[in-house]
Amino acid sequence: MRAVQVPQAGGALELVERDVPTPGRGEVRVRVQACGVCHSDMFAKEGVMPATPFPIVPGHEVVGLVDEVGADVLGDWNLGDRVGVGWFGGACHHCDPCRRGDFITCENGRIPGVTFDGGYAEAVVVPADALAHVPEELSAEEAAPLMCAGVTTYHALRSSPARPGDRVAVQGVGGLGHLGIQFAARMGFEVVAVSRGREKEDLARKLGAHHYVDSEAGDPAQALAEMGGAAVVLATATSGEAISALVGGLDRRGQLLVVGAAETPLQVDAMSLIGPVASINGHASGTSIDSEDTLRFARLTDVRPMIETMPLEKAAEAYDRMMANDARFRMVLTTGQ
Ligand SMILES: [Zn+2]
Ligand SMILES: [Zn+2]
Repeated sequence: MRAVQVPQAGGALELVERDVPTPGRGEVRVRVQACGVCHSDMFAKEGVMPATPFPIVPGHEVVGLVDEVGADVLGDWNLGDRVGVGWFGGACHHCDPCRRGDFITCENGRIPGVTFDGGYAEAVVVPADALAHVPEELSAEEAAPLMCAGVTTYHALRSSPARPGDRVAVQGVGGLGHLGIQFAARMGFEVVAVSRGREKEDLARKLGAHHYVDSEAGDPAQALAEMGGAAVVLATATSGEAISALVGGLDRRGQLLVVGAAETPLQVDAMSLIGPVASINGHASGTSIDSEDTLRFARLTDVRPMIETMPLEKAAEAYDRMMANDARFRMVLTTGQ
């Protein structure tokens, strides 16, 4: 089969021929139709995590068809079923968090494309507990980005303290943010999009934002505070400074919800948390059933990612476009299968 791998940490993406992998006990092989290109693919590309084995095939926004079912697979997974796999690549079911039912914080959690070969390939083998059913109404290309960018924003918002009618700010109109705005609007929040410049205002409003704050035109926290403050700020930016600048825009008991892997540290004045009893929380994607909920909600409410597709062999070009922030808004690799 064709696969795109990173030969060693920091190496270039290269198209190679590989043997089609065989599913082991509890595993399923998926014939890949589409795979999104996520900023977190750089964890594999640059070898950020010591658990990454090289060469590695990146990709954790995978949608395809069940191709082979390994021994002892439990659950309703049959040949030809359309399935998706995201950042959650299966839990160990024996560590302490798993014993408490908190599978997303599993101490031995596996990640497709980071701790084992992922979806930049014509086939991928994953544990059955990492699979989500994909509704027929969604194309593979549309469903793929929902497996990471989608579930991350949807599950973060539905697990947050914000309730319908509350004001929710979504910082950044990019891969995560353009989905976050849609989900927040469909969930019944009063949505404030926050981004640099005016360029993305029309789009943000089309996606469902009720207000738009240009973070370069003034203090974005003050702008939020003048509206009455945000119950939740969903922070998708890759800059710690940009995220930190929004803490002052939280309402009483508001929550800054960090889902973007910022490359620089957050800096926060303690009093800006103490006075309003505000908090900063991290949020890590979701398990396979959370992904399935995301897909169902997206189908029900017509949330769709904005995508640019490229064939698998152009993975390096797609990755570079994503890293250069040129993707509008998610690059998706297709295999033609
Ligand atoms: Zn991702
Ligand atoms: Zn575990």
